[in-house]
Amino acid sequence: MIRMRRILASIGVIAILFAYSGMVFASGGAGISPDEALAKLVDGNTRFVEGKQAQKDVGNNRRTELTKGQQPFAVILSCSDSRVPPEHIFDQGLGDIFVVRVAGNVADSIELGSVEYAVEHLGSPLILVLGHQMCGAVKATVAGGKPEGNIGSIVKKIEPAVKKAKAQVKDKDKVLDAAILENTKNTAAALTQKSAIIKHLVEEKKVKIAAGVYNMSTGKVELVEAASSGKAESSHESSHEHAHAEHSHAGH
Ligand SMILES: [Zn+2]
Repeated sequence: MIRMRRILASIGVIAILFAYSGMVFASGGAGISPDEALAKLVDGNTRFVEGKQAQKDVGNNRRTELTKGQQPFAVILSCSDSRVPPEHIFDQGLGDIFVVRVAGNVADSIELGSVEYAVEHLGSPLILVLGHQMCGAVKATVAGGKPEGNIGSIVKKIEPAVKKAKAQVKDKDKVLDAAILENTKNTAAALTQKSAIIKHLVEEKKVKIAAGVYNMSTGKVELVEAASSGKAESSHESSHEHAHAEHSHAGH
């Protein structure tokens, strides 16, 4: 009888533990809003620019704590460039940000799937697309020519931005910066154009998409409008996206 009671008590404790962990993970993200998440990134970048990085716990305790699960408060889709490491630029520690890095910060199905996983399953409330000054992938696309091997797939994704930049900017020296900006916006637009999961979460205001360009000289990330100002590659998709972006922007 006593033995039976003990067993029942243990089952009760286990059930409570399960309920508790479910509660913790169901809340998603870090339990903060998209705007609060963006403010955290902006604050972190300010600390980085000023050389006043916060003391971060990257030791055994934090690592062990994170074996229970992750709740990154933001997803960063950035270039692989060694000079642009998001954890440093935004002064964040272990488990804080979910980073997808690919040359030229483009978004194809693999990158979109990674972002979808973070917003859908980990509950991250913010996606920031990060372009950067002097991006080699964009520079190669501006230069033109036939890229070797698989690099062509990246160049192809950047081409619409370069085309638009060349049409808009007359000064040759400014084409690269304009193309970097357009490419960043195009990727931000692709998140909702090419992913029904992200689009749905943005419409529900559970997720916000932001875009920024990293200035190598100052260390500052300049936030830009996530929606492209003009027409994108596909007129049907872009007009749809444009209306949608304006709609979501009006809510903030
Ligand atoms: Zn780059």
